Amino acid sequence: MSTILISEVGPRDGLQSIDPVMPLAAKCAWIDALVDAGIREIEVGSFVPAKLLPQLADTAQVVAHARTHPGLIVAVLVPNARGAENALAAGAHKLTLPLSASETHSLKNLRRTHAQVLEDAAAIAAMCRAAPYKVHFEGSVSTAFGCTLEGIVTEAKVVELAEKLMAAGADEVGLSDTTGYANPAQVRSVVRAVHAAIGAEHLTGLHLHNTRGLGLANVIAGLDVGITTFDASLGGLGGCPFAPGASGNIVTEDLVFMLEAMGHDTGIDLDKLLKVRDILAAALPSEPLYGFTPDAGLPLGFRQAA
Ligand code: ZN
Repeated sequence: MSTILISEVGPRDGLQSIDPVMPLAAKCAWIDALVDAGIREIEVGSFVPAKLLPQLADTAQVVAHARTHPGLIVAVLVPNARGAENALAAGAHKLTLPLSASETHSLKNLRRTHAQVLEDAAAIAAMCRAAPYKVHFEGSVSTAFGCTLEGIVTEAKVVELAEKLMAAGADEVGLSDTTGYANPAQVRSVVRAVHAAIGAEHLTGLHLHNTRGLGLANVIAGLDVGITTFDASLGGLGGCPFAPGASGNIVTEDLVFMLEAMGHDTGIDLDKLLKVRDILAAALPSEPLYGFTPDAGLPLGFRQAA
């Protein structure tokens, strides 16, 4: 069975969608515990102006702390070239620029047209290449499976934007179901179409939400077509504040359980991962935490491959 990378996005996608501001020390403790459980990539924050997202105002400090873990890929979201400049100054290893397939969503979310975001993508790609350390630049097509503002997003539009992101100099393209609209047949179809256009090696990751309960089904669909990286958030914390009605990434604990039970190797120790929730529950007592595996426990006789 294959090795699957789980990218934990709770510290970014989760925290940006809730009101309470998690103290820096709790964020660092959360990251430390995730790394101890075997998580190898964490999206630790977003370089957006603090007045827009006070929850993520300390992202540079979180990056500095996360970088002390050898081997951890420290990922951040950047809304524009200015954000990328700050991300590189902080030392982030991976920069993700969202480009919403729905231009209406793009204008609302980033206050930018497709053309403007693609211009930024080219500038960011150049900045990454010139950085004094190795940086990975991902262009993420968000609302790739549908939009709360425009409704249907066509496969042709997703393919077009994926091609344009690669042409702008991105190392890879990701697809985000920002709104939780995706279904498994659609995931297979859109991934295949993008693979055909830009090469399978340039689309390896999906960012899924569980808004309609199809998150894990969509993961299976992604596995079917060769996807090897999945974003998830511990306790299902999170959502997209700019897509009304969309809430909750897929739950890391359930995702890891499913993959390990199927024989895939995530490198994550489930017993340890389940205990990381305690940090989240203590730091955010007013926030609900989701997940079936944490409530039900691991099945009798369940063993992870060593
Ligand atoms: Zn999201």
